[in-house]
Amino acid sequence: MTVPSFQPLQGMSDLASPEVHLWQEVEEAARRLLALYQVEEVRTPILEPTGLFVRSLGEGTDVVQKEMYTFEDRGGRSVSLRPEGTAGVIRYLAGLGPEAAGARLYYLGPMFRAERPQAGRRRQFHQLGVELIGPPGPAQDVEAIALQQHLLNAWGLKAARIEINSRGLPAEQAAVSEGLRKALEPHEPRLCDDCRRRLKANVLRVLDCKQEGCRAVAETLPAVTDFMGADSRAYLDEVRRLLDLLELPAVINPRLVRGLDYYQHTIWEIRHPALGAQDALAGGGRYRIEWEGAAIEGVGFAAGLERIVTAVQHDRPASAESARGKPATWIVSQGAKALEQNLVLAQLLRQRGIACGLALDGRSVKAQMRAANRSGAAFAVIRGELEMEKGLFVLKSMKDGAQEELELPALVERLLRASRAEGT
Ligand code: AMP
Repeated sequence: MTVPSFQPLQGMSDLASPEVHLWQEVEEAARRLLALYQVEEVRTPILEPTGLFVRSLGEGTDVVQKEMYTFEDRGGRSVSLRPEGTAGVIRYLAGLGPEAAGARLYYLGPMFRAERPQAGRRRQFHQLGVELIGPPGPAQDVEAIALQQHLLNAWGLKAARIEINSRGLPAEQAAVSEGLRKALEPHEPRLCDDCRRRLKANVLRVLDCKQEGCRAVAETLPAVTDFMGADSRAYLDEVRRLLDLLELPAVINPRLVRGLDYYQHTIWEIRHPALGAQDALAGGGRYRIEWEGAAIEGVGFAAGLERIVTAVQHDRPASAESARGKPATWIVSQGAKALEQNLVLAQLLRQRGIACGLALDGRSVKAQMRAANRSGAAFAVIRGELEMEKGLFVLKSMKDGAQEELELPALVERLLRASRAEGT
């Protein structure tokens, strides 16, 4: 099948009005809130050396094995479009040296994974990610989870649920994998083909397989923390105590695992019932990543904005409409001279902070009024030869049709008052 050339590539989307207004609202709410937590934005490149992702995410992970857009740049060096945001931030921080200590950063932008196309899985998607740099500590992890919960509240996502667990320490991974493998072996015939392979290569992945049969088997398994040492279990207990102290509604999911190798101790995932099989809104955890001899420790999370927007649309059905800014005023011109003068008027109003629109193509007054209606404007300002001679402007309420003639200062005053009242 030939794809018409105006379609974006499979798994990628054009984002436009009206949906883009909701994106802007979601992003702006997040930026406001991150400022309260003194988390600052960092913008790292979208293209990075492939080795950065291989070394930080782990050679055996699905993302590195199957999903990266990798190619050679002009110098013959292997580069990849970023499949996630943490690795680039860590590269940046590693370059800062000791100044990186205590950094609190967020990023917001596109990520790329060459996924098999399916609902909820895009090849270009967007993430808001937060990285709080510092040595391990339950209080730091809980602050990050509190920030995550606060974001969900700010977006109005009441149905979202935070599930947490521990990934333990790297030294415990072999025991965890071995323990799970032993527990899974009797159930091998019930597992899907992929999971039978994972049993040997990457047994943790069996726990987040979406297949019905595998999920049923996973339910019967012991908690992964059963295979960890006392210190790791105590760390998770302390996280749980602090979550209670802050009255955060996070629950322990004893079989939660996260796919990337760099996690240790606390990990979490947020699910939302509107998302179907791909129900993860966001995921996070504590990590330790080495880059060029520097080891960066921190705790962070990434939220998928496509899924956040879907969930917002589900939990707040009127949100797209209310997020959409409407021009408060539509300027209507009777004749060429008025049109020219209205261009000047529009400039003046916009410089005063009043949103307005006007048609510049000389169409009829009737057609201009239709455009005013379509735009959802609260007022039309109508000007022709007669009004220009008198130095007046006709202000028409689009709601009730009431009209009055005003001089410029009174017109500006009225429109300013109306736009303040509307919050536009
Ligand atoms: P991950 O780094 O895989 O844990 O992803 C963090 C979040 O990004 C997930 O919880 C999703 O919300 C989102 N996400 C990851 N992969 C995709 C994708 N292919 N398409 C859309 N959203 C994604």
